[in-house]
Amino acid sequence: MLRTHTCGELRLADANTTATLTGWVQTIRDKGGVLWIDLRDRYGITQLLLEDGQTAPELFTIARSLGREFVLKATGMVIERKSKNPNLPTGDIELKVTALKILNPAKLPPFLIDDETDGGDDLRLKYRYLDLRRNPVRRNLELRHRMAQQTRLFMDGQNFIEVETPVLIKSTPEGARDFVVPSRMNPGEFYALPQSPQTFKQLLMVSGFDRYYQIVKCFRDEDLRADRQPEFTQIDCEMSFVEQEDILQLFEGLIRHLFKTVKGYDLAEVPRMTYADAMRLYGSDKPDTRFGMEFVELTDLVQGKGFGVFDSAELVVGINATGCASYTRKQIDELTDWVKRPQIGAKGLIYVRHNEDGTLKSSVDKFYSEEDLKGWSERLNTKPGDLILIISGDANKARKQLNELRLEMGSRLGLRDPNVFSALWVLDFPLFEYGEEEQRWFAMHHPFTSPKPEDIPLLDSDPGAARANAYDLVINGTEVGGGSIRIFNRELQARMFSLLGFSDDEAKAQFGFLLDAFEYGAPPHGGIAFGFDRLCSIFGGADSIRDFIAFPKNNSGRDVMIDSPSTISPAQMQELSITTTVSNK
Ligand code: ASP
Repeated sequence: MLRTHTCGELRLADANTTATLTGWVQTIRDKGGVLWIDLRDRYGITQLLLEDGQTAPELFTIARSLGREFVLKATGMVIERKSKNPNLPTGDIELKVTALKILNPAKLPPFLIDDETDGGDDLRLKYRYLDLRRNPVRRNLELRHRMAQQTRLFMDGQNFIEVETPVLIKSTPEGARDFVVPSRMNPGEFYALPQSPQTFKQLLMVSGFDRYYQIVKCFRDEDLRADRQPEFTQIDCEMSFVEQEDILQLFEGLIRHLFKTVKGYDLAEVPRMTYADAMRLYGSDKPDTRFGMEFVELTDLVQGKGFGVFDSAELVVGINATGCASYTRKQIDELTDWVKRPQIGAKGLIYVRHNEDGTLKSSVDKFYSEEDLKGWSERLNTKPGDLILIISGDANKARKQLNELRLEMGSRLGLRDPNVFSALWVLDFPLFEYGEEEQRWFAMHHPFTSPKPEDIPLLDSDPGAARANAYDLVINGTEVGGGSIRIFNRELQARMFSLLGFSDDEAKAQFGFLLDAFEYGAPPHGGIAFGFDRLCSIFGGADSIRDFIAFPKNNSGRDVMIDSPSTISPAQMQELSITTTVSNK
């Protein structure tokens, strides 16, 4: 090595020894007679000292020619600092330089390589290799590394084996849109990149592997929403001879292991809730359970008193915003405007103030007596000082809107601390959801998910009411994982495909290999996959998964550093038998 120590390593105990450090120039402070350089590497920062009369003049000349981010090698004596820096692990010492060598000069970086930077998103992505020098970004990748290591340690301890599944597979019509890759050797034919290794991991169960996992790249060509990446990573898992309970327990173990070993955090036992309850109590299948403010339905109490908005509503539902009775008229008007924005789409917001003196005052006093309001207050369990917020209308819409309002109130009241973690299993998802546009049923999880045995008769009579053996793990209001117990019987799987609108021939063409495999002794099996990038971002207390990916794409799905996607040459196009004319950018 060109160095004897890293820039994060030297301590007072090393005083009076010589050391050689390498790294990047963070800052230079030139006071004339004394010159300090902060030298940085992945491990930390160490202060270099040059002093008139003590340090050779030619070293001052070199030091004065340095710029930010020059790559240096410095040798010297470790000495105790006169003014120590308690914020730096190496802050008790400095290196009194006796030799200094520029290993490579650097152009001035286009933004500050500092915890707080002046670089905008696009600039930082274009020069991602510089952005990665910054502590916060580097720490995120270190966290990701520890997460992956601890995942492998835990899974290995549970007898899972890591198997790689192919990346060039076959396009299927179900799920999101596929990324496709033209096959040169098979003109006119395409591979698809996997949206997940779902069918392969099931085949591994048929092969008898019993416990499989993989930390694996998946690809989905979806319209990019704020925090989506076209390629992302899953912790993908599958087990044989299990029931739902086995999966919930084992993977709750994984998550708690990760919290304990990576964050030193004792995650409480993960509570469980059915999908139906989650929708009723939070209007969401991924509720943020760091705070309460559960929905309370008021429809039966409020109708028939002449208030048309409530009388015509399918659902009237409210939350108790505790301690918010002091909200001014202006604040409530602002909240009302907030829920009326097109993104939320509520028609309005009704409120009841539970005043400090115990009286109740609502925005619909014209229609309701104090006695009426008392009934509402009792049901919502309000105390003096609380504020009831009510939304009404079509049940599904009202729930969605109140969910947004609840989250917003949680944020405003500081109830969504990123350093507090609340996990929840959501169970018993519906098997299907109806696509109004396509006028057909879609698998809510995927077509390989088994119905609850007791709901199999509903497949014919009322598919929408059939529940699946499917589960999601939610942390702080974000879905971090999901899975199901699978179908392992050919007939049931074929029936499922037919309910999803596949003809027998289509099912055979698309998934014949799986249907065939089910005839050669498929064991009962089930599994789960966790969104690894998302899990890292939650552990890191950050909103964006991008910060936890070394080289992410921007919001338009572009890698602005390597400038991809890009056009290919006419010769390549021809070789791939792609004849469509593609316009140049
Ligand atoms: N393959 C599924 C997914 O990507 C997860 C699973 O069912 O195991 O969501």
